[in-house]
Amino acid sequence: MEKQGNIRIASENMMPIIKKWLYSEKDIFLREIVSNASDAITKLKKLVDLGEAEGSDSYRIIVRTDKAAGTLTVEDNGIGMTEEEVETYITQIAFSGAADFVEKYEKAGGEGIIGHFGLGFYSAYMVSDNIEIFTKSYRSDAPAVHWESDGNSTYTIGDCDKQDRGTRVVMHLAEEEKEFLDESVIRRLLNKYCSFMPYEIYLNPKSEEELKAESKEGEEKKNEPVNTTQPLYLKQPKDCTEQEYKDFYRHTFADFNEPLFWIHLNMEYPFRLKGILYFPKVKKQVELERGHVKLYCNQVYIADNIKEVIPEFLMLLNGVIDCPDIPLNVSRSFLQNDAQVQKIAKHITKKVADKLVELYKNDKERYENCWKDLSTFVKFGCIKDDSFYQRVKDIIIYKNLSGEYRPVESYFGEEVSEEDAKEGKEPKAVYYVSDEKKQAQYIRMFKDAGLDAIVCDTFIDPHFISYIEYKNPTKVRFLRIDADVAGELKEEGGADSELEEIFKKYLGEKHVRIRTEKLKGNVPAIVNVSEFMRRMSEMNQFYMMGDAAADVTLVVNSASPAVQALKGAQEEQQKCAVMQIYYLALLAYKQLTPEELSEFTDNQTAMIEKFLK
Ligand code: ADP
Repeated sequence: MEKQGNIRIASENMMPIIKKWLYSEKDIFLREIVSNASDAITKLKKLVDLGEAEGSDSYRIIVRTDKAAGTLTVEDNGIGMTEEEVETYITQIAFSGAADFVEKYEKAGGEGIIGHFGLGFYSAYMVSDNIEIFTKSYRSDAPAVHWESDGNSTYTIGDCDKQDRGTRVVMHLAEEEKEFLDESVIRRLLNKYCSFMPYEIYLNPKSEEELKAESKEGEEKKNEPVNTTQPLYLKQPKDCTEQEYKDFYRHTFADFNEPLFWIHLNMEYPFRLKGILYFPKVKKQVELERGHVKLYCNQVYIADNIKEVIPEFLMLLNGVIDCPDIPLNVSRSFLQNDAQVQKIAKHITKKVADKLVELYKNDKERYENCWKDLSTFVKFGCIKDDSFYQRVKDIIIYKNLSGEYRPVESYFGEEVSEEDAKEGKEPKAVYYVSDEKKQAQYIRMFKDAGLDAIVCDTFIDPHFISYIEYKNPTKVRFLRIDADVAGELKEEGGADSELEEIFKKYLGEKHVRIRTEKLKGNVPAIVNVSEFMRRMSEMNQFYMMGDAAADVTLVVNSASPAVQALKGAQEEQQKCAVMQIYYLALLAYKQLTPEELSEFTDNQTAMIEKFLK
């Protein structure tokens, strides 16, 4: 006997409103219906454990597409519902839940609702004209129930002849939603939302007979579930092998490059959180690709890259995080201010830092081998998050000119007191190389003089060394190896005004400053570019505001015999030689512009002619 009823909901026409809001994400309906099925199995298992219900050998969820009937069906062998329960949970709660949602959403000003939880069963009406439920409760005395509604204001409910325990939800898809009858579309959605759900999910499984008919001799065909019920991150880290981590990575992110390194998070307190974060190899140094950190709640996929939960710099990684304690049925603006969520983000940051420190302490060799790729994330993390910097500052390492890695702090100098600073004392200058090939001549001079420098050659280093200076203003300043002649490279009393005049005379139009110094070695001159001006101009380039004129100094080596020989020379020869000295110094600093190169070549040719005459 079928009964009819009216659904008591706040607004009669919720569907157009809900559809409009969720349009881009309407496929979450499948997640909602499948997670209800999964919850129903969990509930039953709890009763079985308590001895209050009879269980099954296996629990599973079956999803079927039926093009001929125009239906999509999700069936579980979980707890099932009695007629009374259908009335309460579906007709009243599910529908009033949707009404609540509409109301909340209106209050939130239409802002994106994370995960769109709380819409539950009703969300299936986004794609269905009509939904039927066939369900049989675990209570053996309760008859099976059939319920049907078009999602508006009326429904029918009555008995049916469903024999086995569990619930079958049959969605009669709307004309314009027929794509959800396509097996490959459903498979993709199940992979996206349900791939870690705790019970096996089968899509259009074959019957025993079909399987038998397909099997060759001696072989037994089986239906394969679409999901992994025990994703690796749920295991204890000590029970996972390296191969398992790599396989899980490849499978979850469809990335055939091996991850560099991973961190397995597994905590119960102060909140539950499990997951694995993978550091990918940085392919191009110039561009950091955004990673995917997939957020799950009890093995149900919620969304990628939720910035409120996962610290921004970790979004460069690939990973899965499962956090059952996140309040998902609230709006994003609420999440931002939620103390619990902020704690979670902090905790993830702390765990990542701890793991890195642990690796550094226990396996320095591996750490150093990974460092080139790892360092981008670590440095970015420091710039973005001071608490992260505080935790990892001892394990930020830089290579010196002998190729040996040392913590950046070990290069710092003694702290300069306020008084000393007033008297003009500066923090220790740490010289760095940004390109070992281009700066080879400077490096040679440094090495000859027994001086050291660190190698800062990743794209993030210019920003990072500024950050380090800002954090340690009394202990260190960084100078590129071509910024300034280090004290140890020169001797006192190198100034020579006669030479200075000679160079000024011929280089007057070149926008360079001339300084004479007594340098070690016999290089005639080198070019220095002020660290400050160079950083400014690099920044301008970075922001594409044009190239501010760099502050270039030609440091002439008054100890060089070639330079001294200029003094007695004839004007024409003097000019030629000054230009060549200038260009040779410039060449060791940078690539010449076309104009500079042609002037250099003409000058050189003229010199050869004179030399051979
Ligand atoms: P939520 O899952 O957030 O509680 P829903 O609207 O999805 O909200 O579902 C409402 C209720 O209907 C559920 O809490 C559950 O009690 C019941 N229900 C839905 N689907 C099933 C199912 N497959 N088996 C048993 N009960 C179900």
